[in-house]
Amino acid sequence: MSLRDYTFWFVVGSQYLYGPEVLETVASRAQEMADKLNASGKLPCKVVYKVTAKTSKEITDVIRDANHDESCAGIITWCHTFSPSKMWINGLVNLQKAWCHFATQYNREIPNDEIDMDFMNLNQAAHGDREHGFIGARLRAPRKVIAGYWQDADVQERLGKWMRAAAGAAFSRSLKVMRFGDNMREVAVTEGDKVEVQAKLGWQVNTWPVGELADGIAAVTQAEEDAMMREYESLYDIATDNLDAVRYQAREEVAMKKMLDREGCRAFSNTFQDLYGMKQLPGIATQHLLATGYGYGAEGDWKVGAMTAIIKFMTEGQKGGSAFMEDYTYHLVPGQEYSLGAHMLEVCPSVAAERPRIEVHPLGIGGKEDPARLVFEGHAGSAVVVSLVDMGGRLRLICQDIECVKPIMPMPNLPVARVMWRAMPDLKTGLECWILAGGAHHTVLSYDVDAEQMKDWARMMDIEFVHISRDTTTESLEHELFLNDLAWKLK
Ligand code: MN
Repeated sequence: MSLRDYTFWFVVGSQYLYGPEVLETVASRAQEMADKLNASGKLPCKVVYKVTAKTSKEITDVIRDANHDESCAGIITWCHTFSPSKMWINGLVNLQKAWCHFATQYNREIPNDEIDMDFMNLNQAAHGDREHGFIGARLRAPRKVIAGYWQDADVQERLGKWMRAAAGAAFSRSLKVMRFGDNMREVAVTEGDKVEVQAKLGWQVNTWPVGELADGIAAVTQAEEDAMMREYESLYDIATDNLDAVRYQAREEVAMKKMLDREGCRAFSNTFQDLYGMKQLPGIATQHLLATGYGYGAEGDWKVGAMTAIIKFMTEGQKGGSAFMEDYTYHLVPGQEYSLGAHMLEVCPSVAAERPRIEVHPLGIGGKEDPARLVFEGHAGSAVVVSLVDMGGRLRLICQDIECVKPIMPMPNLPVARVMWRAMPDLKTGLECWILAGGAHHTVLSYDVDAEQMKDWARMMDIEFVHISRDTTTESLEHELFLNDLAWKLK
């Protein structure tokens, strides 16, 4: 399924107290609101008006149907009138989809001349949404609350961003990850409890033999290799005479894609320590797979591979780009404090500022032939870096706001793609916070999601979330981590 295939069900709370005329008005307005929201162009997925619910049975029924509908990624609830909340309990305790309480109102203005008690009884969202909010709080139900006028662009945009997070949660629950080889020897942060991850996030993380991939590479036909080379030539500048190296990457990509698609996997990991039967570490092969929507993690880092796939899915149709990334080295000149992110090869060209070049250079580690890779600079702009770590007993998602810049120097001898950024709130504080939180060197760098969306996603998956922002201090973060540790031990 693509992002656009998901739907969100609009469920409007009411009761029989008001008589049929009011209920008909509520239902027709709810349909009108769904239609106008869909026509706004601000939402990535369709809103489907389902019911003006007046009884516990209607609510329980619609939530059961939502749970069983694969295309439904969440419900959006709102109370045009007053809806007594005990009617919602039996439904909400069984809700398995994302929930947004949309605290809005049909009319924007209080009509000075028209307003009377009939108007007040029909238009009492201010009243009904508080009753509705209480039951969400009382049940400790994971939910998003979005308040504001439903025709305002900023309100619609927030609803759209929440929809992307909810679709990401649905995608997560069906995600399969293909591991070629194990994690890099002795590395801790790329490890994780795959059973816990499957229970919480839904990921099916399994391994396939690298030897099978090597056989697949050998079996790629000349026509398949030629077609992939034409694709590379259409997208990238060839800046090497070693076309044989590029052709080998094309064969690797064809073979990896076949295995991924055969098994229904949308993310993969590999490691330079296990390239049995392969001539090169995949470079452009992995980079181009990333550009077409697959997730990837190096050194066996299947967690970052899966997160890359999820964020790419959430941001379908957006233009900023999302990439597997690694914090590599710092520029610590006062007033010019930047991180330089890169990897051995595998940065996704979706974040490129210019048309990438295909180059071939030796790789200092792995003992294989010189791999072909895409070399480019990342573009300027606001972004986040995201890391999922296994704390033992729970998962923690860390998200840091960053400001990417055009790299301040050309670095002509650096043979890999690179992105330069300023971490929030500043390099030193941001680094202290990242290290205190246990964030990995591998991240997903995305220009298209923001911290609020990642927080929404983490809440839907019931995992810990830590945000390092413009306002974070080392002291406040240490306090938050201490309290989180206590809270998650009790949960
Ligand atoms: Mn790495």
